[in-house]
Amino acid sequence: MRCPFCAHDDSQVKDSRPTEDNTAIRRRRQCEGCGARFTTFERVQLREIIVLKSNDAREPFDRQKIEQSVSLACRKRGIAQERIDQLVSGIQRQIETMGEIEVPSRTIGEMVMEGLRQLDSVAYIRFASVYRDFGDAKDFEEFAGTVRDVGKH
Ligand SMILES: [Zn+2]
Repeated sequence: MRCPFCAHDDSQVKDSRPTEDNTAIRRRRQCEGCGARFTTFERVQLREIIVLKSNDAREPFDRQKIEQSVSLACRKRGIAQERIDQLVSGIQRQIETMGEIEVPSRTIGEMVMEGLRQLDSVAYIRFASVYRDFGDAKDFEEFAGTVRDVGKH
């Protein structure tokens, strides 16, 4: 990182810690040229994310769509809206921090499945069975088997 005082190209990180609200990393730096100290912040870059669908179509990422399919899968399962929101927010954060501009819809579908698998096995099966990019019936049986195995423990 270039020194803002003398424009020397290298600085040393003296201290690195999250900000109070945990949304950024604050780094205290010292210029190797003039010894001046300065601070930099590292934050998540939120940008428009494009979803690459299986038919090669592209559309802007839409959190609402994920929320709708998760809610549908969780219908009448007595799962608090708050937990659904948490799951969707978690997926959104994962996608945002991947650093990719284009994300395949399949990747998002897998994230949703992974989230639902941990949340509720019935919701997981429901989602897996209607998931558009899902391969063939054999794959679904394997998933169903996985859920049954989890239930035995
Ligand atoms: Zn300097």
